[in-house]
Amino acid sequence: MDYQRVPDTAGGLRLHLNENTAGCSPKVLEAIRSIPATAIARYPDYEAATRDCAASLGLDPGWVALTNGLDEGIWAAASACVRAGDRGVEAIVPEPAFDMYAACVRAAGGRVVAVPPGPDLAFPLDEVLGAIGPATRLVFLCSPANPSGASLPAPVVRRIAGALPPDAIVFLDEAYVDFAPGSFLDEPPWPANVVVGRTFAKAYGLAALRIGCIAARPDVLARLQAVIPPYSLNVCAVEGLRAALDDRDSHRWYCTQVGESRRILAEACRRLGLRFWPSDANFVLVSLGDRCAEIVRALAAHGIHVRDRSGEPGCDGCARITTGVVEHTRACIAALEEVL
Ligand SMILES: *Cc1c(COP(=O)(O)O)cnc(C)c1O
Repeated sequence: MDYQRVPDTAGGLRLHLNENTAGCSPKVLEAIRSIPATAIARYPDYEAATRDCAASLGLDPGWVALTNGLDEGIWAAASACVRAGDRGVEAIVPEPAFDMYAACVRAAGGRVVAVPPGPDLAFPLDEVLGAIGPATRLVFLCSPANPSGASLPAPVVRRIAGALPPDAIVFLDEAYVDFAPGSFLDEPPWPANVVVGRTFAKAYGLAALRIGCIAARPDVLARLQAVIPPYSLNVCAVEGLRAALDDRDSHRWYCTQVGESRRILAEACRRLGLRFWPSDANFVLVSLGDRCAEIVRALAAHGIHVRDRSGEPGCDGCARITTGVVEHTRACIAALEEVL
């Protein structure tokens, strides 16, 4: 897969991958420690975890499948929609976007139709609608978007879903929705050809356990499940997820920290005269201008790692900064003030 792994940062404060900067709930560790040897020896059963996950989304368990990270859900969508033997099959990716969409479509043998953003990273609705054709099998949408942090209104998602040829799907990536005011799931109707993807890597801090889920009408979900191995989750992820979902206080606390962090980072940007995009996610895209690469390097020298997004369409001179625990955001702001 042509996915570019971000080089490791040997220590320091990691604000470059939108990870949970607090770590997972201690209840997750307790749950993993109490897994009996016999459970490690068995193939994992994740029916109960699927039920818990569906309940947390307010859905019937038949509408939800757990995946080995949301990445596996993205891969499943690409490989189910871009079937071998179909020549010239296309997937639409509005840019800038999470790298995995294009990487998975290409690995599955499909063609990526990249749609550039409007001014100030505005979502290019007319251009996306214009790019839809008989070869379109899949459209990747992300709300809140990575890296702008902007939420996509549900009517926009429905409009795109309604313009697709039969059997094509919208994959709506809601990796950051825990930090946003609302989800597509809160605003019915839910068109049959929309698959929603979630991850427990970000808000729940389970990135290393690799666990996410996809949700869709059961017949559509079955098309994606057909390309997912039967035991793609491990027992630590299964038990860790159940404990994480159960610890609502910890989740609520972290989301509040993120909201406060976004607020103080925005305030610092205004004070420092830096442009930024209002974000519904656990990161803020900040315009650092011509000195972006230099500033990102200087921050790293201060032990603060942020992500230079300059190479992305519409993101010239921009860095993406994770807003996690308030204390970490304050450390980042202090370093930024010094560097500038
Ligand atoms: C982090 C991220 C994912 C991947 O989630 P995993 O569960 O870690 O595989 C998917 N989509 C977006 C937009 C992300 O930022």
